[in-house]
Amino acid sequence: MAAEKKTRHQNKAFGWAARDTSGILSPFNFTRRATEESDVRIKILYCGICHTDLHMSKSVIDFPITYPLVPGHEIVGEVIETGANVKKFNAGDRAGVGCFVRSCGDCDQCNESLESYCNRAVMTYNGTDHDGSPTYGGYSDTIVVHERYVFLIPDRLPLHSAAPLLCAGITVYSPMRYFGLDRPGLHVGVVGLGGLGHVAVKFAKAMGMSATVISTSPHKQKEAIELLGADRFLVSSFSLALQEAIGSLDGIIDTVSAYHPIAPSLGLLKAHGKLVVLGASKEPLQVPSIPLLLGRKIVSGSAAGGMKETQEMINFAAEHNISAEVEVIPMSYVNTAMERLAKGDVKYRFVIDVGSSLKAD
Ligand code: NAP
Ligand code: ZN
Repeated sequence: MAAEKKTRHQNKAFGWAARDTSGILSPFNFTRRATEESDVRIKILYCGICHTDLHMSKSVIDFPITYPLVPGHEIVGEVIETGANVKKFNAGDRAGVGCFVRSCGDCDQCNESLESYCNRAVMTYNGTDHDGSPTYGGYSDTIVVHERYVFLIPDRLPLHSAAPLLCAGITVYSPMRYFGLDRPGLHVGVVGLGGLGHVAVKFAKAMGMSATVISTSPHKQKEAIELLGADRFLVSSFSLALQEAIGSLDGIIDTVSAYHPIAPSLGLLKAHGKLVVLGASKEPLQVPSIPLLLGRKIVSGSAAGGMKETQEMINFAAEHNISAEVEVIPMSYVNTAMERLAKGDVKYRFVIDVGSSLKAD
């Protein structure tokens, strides 16, 4: 088995990895498998920094972490090699990889292209691949992925600002579609105006809905309205504005990256309104029963969508000129970027310029 792994992993790769719960990233040499018959090898050009990368690097959410950890699941780049059976891609294509790189391919979820909900889905990093080797993410020079789990990025989308669509984009788009929060005239709320939240506002507007941002940061109001197109901005600590907005929303996409009370959001929902929690925190949610049952409201969670829906989202984004607002950074800036992200100091997604700033040791 060890010998087999060695021959499979003959290709050198280079990236930046966290080695322990400090989360500090540093250069890391490793190997990736040879391109198998259904695989594509991608030269990574850009990779977004999701807040999950920060949670995972520091191991602060309820999830077992194996170090060294090479984060990154908002990957875009160029196909540089294809296996003999690959049908969807040619060398030179613009390709993307999101939160998972494999699934069983044969369960109810996979058969409905809900691969992200397959019990055997393999995460892009901190996962175990089909040959028993650890998966490493997009803060690295190349990645090898079965073509089923790779997306085509249309020419219309700039690669650097398309990268965050691979996680932030699909994570907000999927629940909007699934919970019917995608119809013109509906009123949707977005709690937390960060990487996920700002893309949620853009999708809501493109779907013809009214968008209300609920934020802890009053200074984000001007951009939320003028740049992102939000119709209303509520500061979550300002109770008068919240009082006036009670019962006004059909649904809420909650993207907050830390523990926070959800009772105020329940109050903002109309009867039958839906609160979809996307943020990950270690502490359990506290759901007060009276506001929940009186309005027959729903509290749910949602993860990234499957392959079919993600490609649909990418195509929708291209059609509506939607991509993320990004700060493009060199790899050497990644630890500072993580510190700034922890403080909410980013507009609105850091994207690493892997292609021109990652230099092998
Ligand atoms: P982000 O860019 O850091 O945005 C999070 C926003 O939440 C911040 O900009 C801030 O917005 C608000 N916030 C932060 N701390 C807060 C606090 N203590 N109380 C209230 N609001 C707070 O993070 P992101 O990349 O969008 O990710 C958001 C969360 O979603 C993370 O927990 C991430 O792990 C999770 N996530 C989940 C999935 C999934 O599959 N469900 C996928 C991707 C990410 P304001 O300044 O506007 O208040
Ligand atoms: Zn993510």
